[in-house]
Amino acid sequence: MTKDWKKKIDDEEKVLKAEQKKRETESHEIVRREHGVKVQELGRKFKCHVCNRPAQRPGKQYVDVRMGIDTSTFEEDDWSIPADLWQCSKCDQWTCKYHIYKDICQKCAEKM
Ligand SMILES: [Zn+2]
Ligand SMILES: [Zn+2]
Repeated sequence: MTKDWKKKIDDEEKVLKAEQKKRETESHEIVRREHGVKVQELGRKFKCHVCNRPAQRPGKQYVDVRMGIDTSTFEEDDWSIPADLWQCSKCDQWTCKYHIYKDICQKCAEKM
């Protein structure tokens, strides 16, 4: 009997750990899926106006969080702007790195 009750605790622990692991995997999966949806939305909103390449990376924003007397800066994704497209300084349209040079897009350059 002595061994048995300990085994029960071991088994219980195993079950709990397995459940925890499952929950963690599920929440990772949700985060991953949400990220995918956001990337799709970002790509729908922002495209290179020359080649239609959709944006794939969100911009970054820096958020200051005060902790006691210290302020820490955290980097957060900013889904209102893309990180892999740039605005042309002449036409203000979003442009990928292949179609922008010195802040001017290919279309504006061709009109110059
Ligand atoms: Zn392009
Ligand atoms: Zn332009």
